Amino acid sequence: MRQVKLGLWGPEVSEVCFGSLAISPLQGRVTEEEGTSVLKYALEQGVNWIDTAEIYDNYAQIAAASKDYPNVRIISKSYSVTASEMRHSLEKARTALQRETLDFFLLHEQESALTLKGHAEAWEELLRAKEKGIVRWIGISTHAAAGVRAGALQPGLDVIHPILNYQGLGIIDGNLNAMLEAIAFAAELGIGIYAMKVFGGGHLSHDPEKAVAFVRSVQGVQAMALGMSSREEVDYNLLLLAGQEIPSELREKVKHRKRKLYIADWCQGCGLCLEACPQGALHLEKVAVVDPEACVLCGYCGRVCPHFCLKIV
Ligand code: SF4
Ligand code: SF4
Repeated sequence: MRQVKLGLWGPEVSEVCFGSLAISPLQGRVTEEEGTSVLKYALEQGVNWIDTAEIYDNYAQIAAASKDYPNVRIISKSYSVTASEMRHSLEKARTALQRETLDFFLLHEQESALTLKGHAEAWEELLRAKEKGIVRWIGISTHAAAGVRAGALQPGLDVIHPILNYQGLGIIDGNLNAMLEAIAFAAELGIGIYAMKVFGGGHLSHDPEKAVAFVRSVQGVQAMALGMSSREEVDYNLLLLAGQEIPSELREKVKHRKRKLYIADWCQGCGLCLEACPQGALHLEKVAVVDPEACVLCGYCGRVCPHFCLKIV
């Protein structure tokens, strides 16, 4: 598997990072045991880093899958605002992941300089943790071009995990060009960048070659996190990235799994998705609810959700 260097001073990692949201209870696609087995399988195939987050609630699963792989790196993140919240997040990760030293820890979903300012105490605590050797590399994840720009200027930041796909789906503060410019700016500074939502949360899965080729074509982006919840998806993605032919049977298996619209439990009930649904398949009961009979899985609703709650899974 292709190895890449994450930014100027980051570690060498596989081009693919295992996106563990797909096996977490948050998505509920697979049982904990199934998810652990899929993750183990990906590690056996050479994927050597895992993306998670405190909110995914799957540290135990990751610890179980990676216990025989001490060199596999783990990235986690939290929404901590204060120093004490960050200390708590770091301790929780160290204990539950059974790692004395954390490889990476990020501030989750930092959308602008203002958001980062609001998390300044937590960032200071991350810097202290880095100095003490509790965590090796620190950074942010973001769905916003302004988040990438602000992160790039954050003192001590090593890595950014931005949303990036060829249609610009999910970018909350502008278009794809704004994101590409922000990424170029961060890359100039030597920051490590690994993309998320390469397949637009499932909306671009019909042309995976194009989705991957696009991210690879963006200078300064070294790697990508891909969510995988079955061995077939692992095989499929690894063949895809290796530029090898995907057997039609495997392609069919991955493509024809029974799918549904997943609504994350952090839905804010803003109602934007209702307006975007051409089928009238969504209604509000404080949060968005889908009528699976009426839903044609077109994915239009997912494009408008500011919180990225909607996904075809
Ligand atoms: S757009 Fe997103 S946050 Fe708003 S109601 Fe729909 S699912 Fe919930
Ligand atoms: S996937 Fe399409 S049909 Fe289904 S709820 Fe979303 S917009 Fe409506």
